[in-house]
Amino acid sequence: MKKYTIKRQAIEIDISSMSIDYASKLNPAQLSAVTFGKGASLIIAGAGSGKTRTLVYRVAYLVERGIPPTSILLLTFTRKAAQEMLKRAAALTSSRIDSQSGGVEGGTFHSFASRVLREFAQEIGFSPTFTILDRSDSEDVINLIRGRMGLNVRGRRFPKKKTISDIFSKSVSKSTLMSTIVETEFPHFSKEIEPLYELFSEYTQYKQKHMLMDYDDLLVYLVRLLKESEHVAAKLRSRYAYVLVDEYQDTNSLQADIVKNLVGDNGNVMVVGDDSQSIYSFRGADFRNIMDFPELFPQTKIIKLEENYRSTQSILGLANTIIDRARDKYTKVLYTKRKEGHTPALIPLPDESVQSVFVAQKILELREEGVALDDIAVLFRAGFHSFDLEVELKKRNIPYIKHGGFKFMETAHVKDIMAHLKIIVNPSDVVGLERMLLLVDGVGPAAARTIAEQVIVEGVTSKGLLNYTNDKRYGEGITKLAKAISTLENNQMSPADAVTLLTDYYTPLLKKKFDDYPKRLQDLEHLAIITGKYRDFDSFITDMALDPPTDSISDIQREDPDPERLILSTIHSAKGLEWHSVFVIWAAEGYFPTTYAAESVEDIEEELRLMYVAMTRAEENLFITYPVKIITHRGPAYGKASRFVQNIKEEILETWVVEEEWDL
Ligand code: ATP
Ligand code: MG
Repeated sequence: MKKYTIKRQAIEIDISSMSIDYASKLNPAQLSAVTFGKGASLIIAGAGSGKTRTLVYRVAYLVERGIPPTSILLLTFTRKAAQEMLKRAAALTSSRIDSQSGGVEGGTFHSFASRVLREFAQEIGFSPTFTILDRSDSEDVINLIRGRMGLNVRGRRFPKKKTISDIFSKSVSKSTLMSTIVETEFPHFSKEIEPLYELFSEYTQYKQKHMLMDYDDLLVYLVRLLKESEHVAAKLRSRYAYVLVDEYQDTNSLQADIVKNLVGDNGNVMVVGDDSQSIYSFRGADFRNIMDFPELFPQTKIIKLEENYRSTQSILGLANTIIDRARDKYTKVLYTKRKEGHTPALIPLPDESVQSVFVAQKILELREEGVALDDIAVLFRAGFHSFDLEVELKKRNIPYIKHGGFKFMETAHVKDIMAHLKIIVNPSDVVGLERMLLLVDGVGPAAARTIAEQVIVEGVTSKGLLNYTNDKRYGEGITKLAKAISTLENNQMSPADAVTLLTDYYTPLLKKKFDDYPKRLQDLEHLAIITGKYRDFDSFITDMALDPPTDSISDIQREDPDPERLILSTIHSAKGLEWHSVFVIWAAEGYFPTTYAAESVEDIEEELRLMYVAMTRAEENLFITYPVKIITHRGPAYGKASRFVQNIKEEILETWVVEEEWDL
């Protein structure tokens, strides 16, 4: 075979004649990044220094230089972040350049991997209709195999399905031997290493046989595809001439491998991130990745941004103090030209309910002062930390939206419906089929397994089910199921119509299964609304597995026309965002850092970075609160301020004394 290369060139234009006045919108370091030429570059800089903004302008710049939007790949931590960035870049260039209009391809590593794998699945022995297992699906598969292998006998202390899934995932995503993971992180299971290896091998085979991929597989198989299939790698390299990655500090070694192999030795890649904001090591991310980037690409140009545009100097003063306590740190002290601003506040409150009252009252005061509700965020370490506050907000009619924590897609009823949809796309999805059968009247776990295995052999689900419609115990239920499935199989339905049809089929089952079915039915209506945005099943199911909506119906009053809502968010979900005023609640020892973290230095360090991320979200006001009396399951306990905010000078973090006054 002979290789021939077509050489293309970007348009040579002077940036002063471009439609965007780059020099006035960016500082010199940002501008040098935006206009960077060919090769690899790394922007390593602190919070709020304009890393994301730089990428947005870079996209606009490339498009203005005549690079086709389809040659640009923008990888971000959430799909929403990519959409938001592309929207902004599009607004700058007054054109449509987002992926929906056949423009820039943007999304997460996982969604990118799933698209590429669907296109080239055959190369790695998969069918393009593979099903993606989310975390709880993969736990279910592990559980099933564990049962088959006889590892769940009573009295044996074998890890639970969630722990097994964690062990597998850590070993894969950190590219570390499973035995090392078990010995360092789960030493009490070191006697079980051998069966864990066997289980892992069974799990892998099972997924292959049934065309299933878990989250880690998406990355693993993409790496394999890029490394083993030279022509696919070459095709992708020429397709994506410019690769941009935001939040690179939260990538793992597989993602680094993807970047390396996707870009090749001479490609154009720009990654941006902040090692001090690496907060996903529990999922295998490693902040050293960003430090090691220049080793992947020896010619890397490193650009540092030092000026912060987000926060007041007072907020940065506190953030700098906090990160100075980190053991491993490479970056920078942040400074800003903005005014000094209010001193951040540390506010002990008598108990959780007073904490909620304080936060609610302060929010109303801010609103009185003209701060919009959606410019205020309440951040917390764990989803349940906001429960009490949510009650208080409802009482006062303060509308809010919650990100992170509660997962809409992980509720049993939504998963039930999704299982029915997935089987249409991948008829070998035996786990989903078992789940569906278990809902049918008269079908127990043993029957569900046997029937599911027989049905998938048949290949067409509805046809396979027909063999069981005459059974006295469950024939009636299976007939109904077969009918619903065959309607879906035989009609080209939109995902929204399919969800509606399935909801009709499922409602009687739902009523039997759950006492609180009215609320769950509402969730299913919500699901139908979400599906309305999709034209085909594949993209809907993939999006739901990879980037599920996290908002539960109880938090969103759909009929509520008020778009201005307070933001409640876990800190993990607040990455990259900013608000005028930020509350960090439950900043108490044992809660933030959590008790689990207290066991290892690495975990404590990660919690510290998490606190840093939380604080650096604030533009003008930062309030850190904690309850002094805490009710635990062992009775009341006395809460101490989080170690991260203890012993800080009053001029940097001012302690407030809150008094209560009754108005009769
Ligand atoms: P994080 O580390 O939190 O992800 P970041 O480094 O990505 O932060 P951005 O979100 O890009 O920072 O920028 C923070 C804020 O500063 C944004 O509101 C952005 O528009 C603004 N900003 C950044 N650079 C400039 C600039 N040169 N001129 C004016 N505003 C800027
Ligand atoms: Mg950012």
